[in-house]
Amino acid sequence: MSKQIETRCIHGNSDFSFNEETRAVSFPIYQTATFGHIGLGHSSGFDYTREKNPTRQRLEETIAALEGACDAVAFSSGMAAISACFELFQPGDHILCSEDLYGGVIRLIDTISTKNGLSFDFVDTSDMETVRAHLRPETRALYIETPSNPMMNITDLRACASLARERGLLLIVDNTFLSPYLQNPIALGADIALHSGSKFISGHNDTICGFVCCASRDLADRVRLIAKTTGGVLAPFDCWLVLRGVKTLAVRMERQQENAQAVAEWLVRQPQVKRVFYPGLAAHPGYGINRGQTRGAGSMISFRTDSVETAQRILEKVRLITFAESLGGTESLITYPVTQTHHDVPEEMRIHLGITETLLRLSVGLEHVDDIIADLKQAMEA
Ligand SMILES: *Cc1c(COP(=O)(O)O)cnc(C)c1O
Repeated sequence: MSKQIETRCIHGNSDFSFNEETRAVSFPIYQTATFGHIGLGHSSGFDYTREKNPTRQRLEETIAALEGACDAVAFSSGMAAISACFELFQPGDHILCSEDLYGGVIRLIDTISTKNGLSFDFVDTSDMETVRAHLRPETRALYIETPSNPMMNITDLRACASLARERGLLLIVDNTFLSPYLQNPIALGADIALHSGSKFISGHNDTICGFVCCASRDLADRVRLIAKTTGGVLAPFDCWLVLRGVKTLAVRMERQQENAQAVAEWLVRQPQVKRVFYPGLAAHPGYGINRGQTRGAGSMISFRTDSVETAQRILEKVRLITFAESLGGTESLITYPVTQTHHDVPEEMRIHLGITETLLRLSVGLEHVDDIIADLKQAMEA
């Protein structure tokens, strides 16, 4: 029987029964490049760490258990995971994407995937009519972020899954913003759930990693072949750090989300704040759909200030919250998408999406919520 998700964060799908002679409670770091052969034609199952390593295997089993995936492959970054995923396609294939995407993915598409013969369209995937209207005969996949980065738009994953089935497309969902604790795209019909594990999964702003979680053995075998061939896999020590971080995913997500809800409700009441983008607010256009497909709204909030001066003052004056890229960790971080995460997105597209100089993105951490709010307040009034 599958265990509850809190238990799976700590033990994956296994009981504490791995046959390590020492019975070490913390899974060992197998810091080795290669493994000796027992005899001709006899392998322990491990030959070379690029292909397979026990610490990585343990982590992959844990992430697969959290995502309800058939298999998960650990990469050296979220971008390495996404690049590997795009290697599933052939020149001429078309992929229809959410228009509001992590900036690094737009850069990957513009500088590398397009050169390799793939084509892309970026549309508002919160509107299924728009999605349908942009399908082409050569479309092979839907690539979705929900909530999206940084505008927090919500896409209906069940509707995308049924469209993908009807048209024979792969449904790929970047699940970084909610983590497997709050949303499981595969259970909603996705073929692949992607993660930048650098964010909530590892959770301590100390590791870079990524995951491709696959719904079927066939897809997983293809991703494993790409991973072992192109080699962007996660090193044993980093696998151990992520195993350690993910044990507390459930409690971190619960508290960070509770903090975020309070911060979002406070932001709405501030005269210097024009608009708050957080799917946990009933006024958010995706509130209902998000509720129906997740266990929560997460801890990412974007907001628009009354002026560029206010936005820049907040960035310069925060003292507890760090002005930095990234998200999802124990420390609250505030980001300026226009110059940081989305700097390489063409200006025209940024304006269309609303990524302007008055937009800030906040990753609410695990500090006491009163301290987080007090810091924002002093920065706004400074
Ligand atoms: C950070 C991030 C990525 C990229 O992951 P890295 O681990 O930084 O390479 C991809 N998608 C989303 C939504 C992200 O937040």
